[in-house]
Amino acid sequence: MTSNAPVIWWIRRDLRLADNPALTAAVTSGAPVIPLYILDAQDNALGAAPKFRLGLGLEKLAETLSARGSRLIFRRGDAQEVLRQVIDETGAGSVVWSRLYDPEAIARDTAIKEDLKASGIAVKSHGGRLLFEPWTVETKAGGMFKVYTPFWKAVRDRQPADLLPEPGKLSAPVSWPVSDRVTDWQMGAAMRRGADIVRAHCNVGEQAALDRLDGFLEEAVARYKDRRDYPAEDATSNLSENLAWGEISPHRMWHLGQRAMAGSGKGAEHFLKEVVWREFAYHLMYHSPQILTENWRPEWDGFGWSSEITPDVEAWQRGQTGYDFVDAAMREMYVTGRMHNRSRMIVASFLTKHLMVHWKVGMDWFADCLVDWDPAANAMGWQWTAGSGPDAAPFFRIYNPEGQIDKFDADRRYIRRWIAEGQRTPPQSASSFFDAAPLSWGLSPDQMRARPLIDLKAGRERALEAYGQHRSAG
Ligand code: FAD
Repeated sequence: MTSNAPVIWWIRRDLRLADNPALTAAVTSGAPVIPLYILDAQDNALGAAPKFRLGLGLEKLAETLSARGSRLIFRRGDAQEVLRQVIDETGAGSVVWSRLYDPEAIARDTAIKEDLKASGIAVKSHGGRLLFEPWTVETKAGGMFKVYTPFWKAVRDRQPADLLPEPGKLSAPVSWPVSDRVTDWQMGAAMRRGADIVRAHCNVGEQAALDRLDGFLEEAVARYKDRRDYPAEDATSNLSENLAWGEISPHRMWHLGQRAMAGSGKGAEHFLKEVVWREFAYHLMYHSPQILTENWRPEWDGFGWSSEITPDVEAWQRGQTGYDFVDAAMREMYVTGRMHNRSRMIVASFLTKHLMVHWKVGMDWFADCLVDWDPAANAMGWQWTAGSGPDAAPFFRIYNPEGQIDKFDADRRYIRRWIAEGQRTPPQSASSFFDAAPLSWGLSPDQMRARPLIDLKAGRERALEAYGQHRSAG
């Protein structure tokens, strides 16, 4: 190790320069900085849309870094081995990264930290992905929170760390290690026909995220509280894809949101409460990682959900249930890589209750289709809707997808935006679903609209009966 040994900034879900404690630590050390991304088995296993979106984010970050005289080095392989190789090649003396909180990442990172430290490499992990580290928020009795409202009350008056400005120049190492080209990795390969269509809806990169937050706080935040449940309206921040990849920090949303509270009052406060739902999801995942794979409430084990990919499940995935709200939402996701929160609840309720399909089947489909895929929020959202999660909606709250149109899309703007069939001149959004859908699905806008898969009343009764039987058996 030389006295001016480089520091490796190992980039994972923190694709930004500003308000990035790991990067700031690297730059302020005064050492040359080597930004490194490693496509390891964990990232290689991402679903089609998240992997595609990660690729876009990495390309953008690479551009940003090269405009500042630095470089983003791309390598693939086992993260521990690659880090060791790059350390050997460059004489790097330290590694920094931003923490992740899912069990697989924690296990990998812990092993790497121990291994590198044993070899005399300085390793430091930093926060930055969450407002509050999950282990710093606890109940009065010293345990984890299982209910959102007390969690919110516990954090709402805390001050998360101040914002860090974009650090100064990243000084370059004497020579750069070799790098793959991210475009050669074909991160969007599994998107099949959908890549270009979804791409047009993505808002990629740190600057785009900052602009979006500014625009939202200037305008839509004032109507957020009243209109955030109406999927045809642009009343939410749409920042989840940027948060998912770390193109913006939750701290920025918090501090700017706090400032906005002085002007738009309730809207901004409600927005911050939603940002804290994300924190709550991470709190749950950190303290009870089984939320990702098992019923959070074990009393749901053995409930009569089916886990098979039946034709009904395929119809749900393909926006062909015959129920407009459900199909509009599923198509919205296929075209944009995102879905409105109200729609997520409706399609999840329809799958787990009307169709009696296991929430894991839906969670996995979302993990393949969402550009804002987030392990914690996705698992919490599915278990919340299914009834098996902490602080969940009761199982007997079964959304009626027809009634939800009357309440949240009474003028059917959302439905028209996404369902082409039956419209003489469907909007581009609705038609583009048929361009994105794989040819093997055999769909065309000229076909008759799908007939309802199931009678809503009968489906509801079947679900409630199964629920009653399960409870009395339990
Ligand atoms: P805004 O309303 O502007 O909220 C601001 C931020 O707060 C969001 O970007 C998000 O980070 C956070 N947030 C808002 N609502 C929630 C919530 N209910 N749970 C957790 N965080 C929230 N969100 C994801 O980011 N990734 C997922 O994979 C995901 N899967 C979901 C699956 C289901 C079944 C359900 C019901 C919800 C899921 N959510 C997920 C939560 C929520 O739907 C999205 O975060 C929200 O729609 C994003 O839109 P927005 O950025 O405009 O949110």
